[in-house]
Amino acid sequence: MTAERQIYLDNAATTAVLPEVVQAMLPYFTQEYGNPSSLYELGQRARSAISDARERIAAHIGARGQDIYFTSGGTEADNWALKETAFAYRDKGKHIITTSTEHHAISHSCEWLEKRGFEVTYLPVDTDGLVSPAGFEAAIRDDTTLASIIFANNEIGTIQPVRELAAIARARGVVFHTDAVQAIGHVAIDVEELGVDLLAASGHKFHGPKGVGFLYIRKGIKTRSFLDGGAQERKRRASTENVPSIIGMAKALDIAMANFDARVAHETALRDRLIERVLNEVEHVRLNGHRDQRLGGNANFSFEFVEGESLLLSLEQKGILGSSGSACASGSLDPSHVLLAIGLPHEIAHGSLRLTIGEETTVEDIDYTVEAIKQVVGQLRQMSPLYEDFVAGKKPLSAVR
Ligand SMILES: *Cc1c(COP(=O)(O)O)cnc(C)c1O
Repeated sequence: MTAERQIYLDNAATTAVLPEVVQAMLPYFTQEYGNPSSLYELGQRARSAISDARERIAAHIGARGQDIYFTSGGTEADNWALKETAFAYRDKGKHIITTSTEHHAISHSCEWLEKRGFEVTYLPVDTDGLVSPAGFEAAIRDDTTLASIIFANNEIGTIQPVRELAAIARARGVVFHTDAVQAIGHVAIDVEELGVDLLAASGHKFHGPKGVGFLYIRKGIKTRSFLDGGAQERKRRASTENVPSIIGMAKALDIAMANFDARVAHETALRDRLIERVLNEVEHVRLNGHRDQRLGGNANFSFEFVEGESLLLSLEQKGILGSSGSACASGSLDPSHVLLAIGLPHEIAHGSLRLTIGEETTVEDIDYTVEAIKQVVGQLRQMSPLYEDFVAGKKPLSAVR
């Protein structure tokens, strides 16, 4: 069933490519199609276009152009940062520190490294999803070479104290990577001020194209090349550059940074309206993630006595597109590792809903969504035997805040 109205509240999953971004990309498919490695002018024009894109992207995060390496997306940048850096420092040690709330691009890379003789410490988080800097410091050993801590969580939106964590890592000689895929364009980032050594980003989370991202690598940090082949990306990442997408990603970041303050303020105001209304107007619900130290557009709720997948489907019938807290994409019904890491019991994690707001979201969209949630949650609870038992006083309420 398709609803008349579509309210896209899944901007953490991906975003629409802006028309200006498409316009900037188009010539590089048809007229300016040269290979940047070719010596004739058609190739050199493409080369200078990506070099210009690199400089602009670098400037947005306080980096030098030569320290930006284009990749096929956030996943590749994270894999590169983890695997190749771990191996580059293997003679020094085999211990890596990360958190229990990373994106799978990091956590599965860590598991890959564990199978190859590395040891990984997964730092716990508190009920808001924050890692403790003191806990991080205590986990550092003499053989720790690398730490990877997600900047802003893709599910619950919690923003980590990256600057403090990176300073601890630096003082102890540990290379510090951050997965900033959700943060870039939404949180001000300056790699010098933050003191991070490696930083991963992806174009499609800030209205750029899918299949393009970058890894920032601080000068002097050792990392092996991720792809072997030609001499592209200063011999560190072979393969002909994805010229149109690189141009598009740079354009998207230019736009994101040009209207940064107004956009973030708009998204944050709508997020706060959504959170306040849901918490005040729906019973037996909790907000997941830190109340304030969170992404401007992120709201994540757990509704007791409701199954997340059913909630999503019912909302979709009303035109609202969001995301649930279980890893349904992988065909598994396991609740998200992030929701379990913040201490939610399985049955509550199952009733989770993530709504991520974008610049185009309006107050009317939020109010319509709140009314829809109230209606759908009410209907689903009416059909829930657990809710029936609860109302009849048979089952004590689980720990809902
Ligand atoms: C989306 C996302 C990724 C993966 O980026 P892709 O470009 O889709 O490969 C990695 N980390 C986080 C936090 C993300 O949100």
